[in-house]
Amino acid sequence: MTDCLFCKIAAGDIPAEKLYEDDEVLAFKDIAPQAPVHFLVIPKKHIVDPSDVSQEDEKLIGKLIRIGSQIAAENGVSDGFRIIFNNGAKAGQAVFHIHMHILGGKDRPWPM
Ligand code: 5GP
Ligand code: ZN
Repeated sequence: MTDCLFCKIAAGDIPAEKLYEDDEVLAFKDIAPQAPVHFLVIPKKHIVDPSDVSQEDEKLIGKLIRIGSQIAAENGVSDGFRIIFNNGAKAGQAVFHIHMHILGGKDRPWPM
């Protein structure tokens, strides 16, 4: 999608501090971290939010969890991290390209 911030980051048109990338998935540091470790994992495919996940995307969304957990371990927080997907503006979703937050490095991270 042309007017989507995370599609632009996935395409390399907007810079981000990348932690992992392959042809389907990108992980990058959150620009406004809410915990010592806070990064986002996205599919490169434009999916709006968890409610927009179709049956054909199930494997891809599972991959976000596998890759995210791997990066959490690489960043020293395998002993405790929180995974959050916001769905809809009412829940605090601000970017309408599905993204998985991973927060760690402090107790019960997620003050938002
Ligand atoms: P949401 O509130 O939609 O679940 O989370 C969006 C997240 O994206 C926020 O935590 C916000 O800090 C992050 N974010 C917004 N714009 C950018 C950006 O341009 N670059 C990066 N790396 N993160 C961003
Ligand atoms: Zn997008």
